[in-house]
Amino acid sequence: MSTPPSRDAPATLLLIAGLDPSGGAGLFADARVAWEFGLRSAGAATVLTEQDSRGLRRGEPADAEFLGDQLRAVLADTEVAAVKVGALGSEAIAREVSAALELTAAPVVWDPVAQATSGAGALYAGDPAAALAGLAPHLSLVTPNLREAEALAGVSLPAEAEIAAIERAAETLAGRAGAALVTGGHASADTARDILASGGAIRHFDGVRIEGGTDVHGTGCALATAIAGGLARGAALEDAIGGAKAFVAARIRSPVRAGRGRPSVV
Ligand code: PLP
Repeated sequence: MSTPPSRDAPATLLLIAGLDPSGGAGLFADARVAWEFGLRSAGAATVLTEQDSRGLRRGEPADAEFLGDQLRAVLADTEVAAVKVGALGSEAIAREVSAALELTAAPVVWDPVAQATSGAGALYAGDPAAALAGLAPHLSLVTPNLREAEALAGVSLPAEAEIAAIERAAETLAGRAGAALVTGGHASADTARDILASGGAIRHFDGVRIEGGTDVHGTGCALATAIAGGLARGAALEDAIGGAKAFVAARIRSPVRAGRGRPSVV
């Protein structure tokens, strides 16, 4: 990691995500993560936001048709090694993204974020199930947190949900998206457990719960982008997830303090 992308034969990670002008999440942060995985990035903004390190105040979805044209132009011109899809803004954008992904067979990781951890503005205002239905044929993995998994699977997953309930939700989502990593489960007071359902099997990824970790901006974005980065470099899904979790955990331990509010992962 951290070797700059090759200049002769650069591998490109396509980023389809929101724009956080403060740089802690969304496209700017994703591009930094990509670089750390030796990948250059290309991509387009789905939703423009007004936010700072204290929170998200407003989200304005991009023009859907224009976004579709932007993605088709890039995909017709550049072979991409993997795709990270983040916030989708609107159902019209979700449809355009699904249509544009017809142009690539590269692995696609979707972080189905609809709401920021902090602040009131929306990153996706449509029906989560509609976005999932359109993207599903293209996905290698969807990475919801508990709240997002509830919305996508149509189940109730309270913060202290039983592991078995999270496993069932992950299996439901894997049935649609191929594989699902539900993040943010609690195995115990000091163990954070992410649950992967893939190929009819369940796997747990346990990590040490980091003091103040949930207060770091951009963790969901960074995790999905790092997984896509691993896949772009040829890793198998479980290895890409393991590598991404180690990367994000290390960054949460020493986050970037650029603004006056929450620190960010990169
Ligand atoms: N803003 C944008 C544009 C994002 O894409 C995301 C995460 O996906 C966020 C904000 C959310 O950041 P946080 O980690 O603070 O929930």
